[in-house]
Amino acid sequence: MRIAVLSDIHANLVALDAVIAALGSIDGVWQLGDVVGYGPEPDGVVERLRSLGARGVRGNHDTTAVTGEGVDWFNPEARAAIEWTRATISPAVSGWLAALPDHLQDESTGADLVHGSPRDPLWEYITSGAVAKANLDALSSTTPFGLHGHTHIPVAWRADDGRLELIRPENGERLDLDDRRTLLNPGSVGQPRDGDPMASFMILETEPASATWRRVPYDIAATQKAMRALGLPGRLVDRLSFGV
Ligand code: ZN
Repeated sequence: MRIAVLSDIHANLVALDAVIAALGSIDGVWQLGDVVGYGPEPDGVVERLRSLGARGVRGNHDTTAVTGEGVDWFNPEARAAIEWTRATISPAVSGWLAALPDHLQDESTGADLVHGSPRDPLWEYITSGAVAKANLDALSSTTPFGLHGHTHIPVAWRADDGRLELIRPENGERLDLDDRRTLLNPGSVGQPRDGDPMASFMILETEPASATWRRVPYDIAATQKAMRALGLPGRLVDRLSFGV
């Protein structure tokens, strides 16, 4: 099986379509939450994911867009964008987001899918070794690997005989997976934050298991133009140019 793993699309349909065009032959699409928030085309992104038959989980932005819950935790720009999103999305899109689980285990691979972290699926950021270790320990006993997003940084954390290994993958880098517990983050499709503005995603393969990280360019100016036309915050528009 060859699965496209996408996270933090953030209503950036131009970026999503560039990723889809680069996928080649795949057996499925998994998405790790934050489908909406920040970007200009929440309904369009959800429609595209539905047409692809994507499976996946709900992120913190998706939850807030549907329920309003957690809005006080957002910084002012993120809050303005999520309030715009909440007022804009269609009832059908809102229903699709609301129906997503916050945790999903794939039966065939055993992979654990969450947005934030295995122990706190919506809100926890895995940004330190201590948090990564606690979450490797929190992975279900039936799976060696967990997929998550939320930080917008492509990275893997692997437990190796009591040691913790941090892998920062380059574009095109493949990591062979075995029975060592591993957390895998594909990076962000719609708002990368690792200093590279290209859309980030991951291809997960089985038999033998591996993860390959990829970057693709997209028409950043087109997304920025749409954001400006909608009056979305300037800082959110500008950051797309820099991938921060
Ligand atoms: Zn996000």
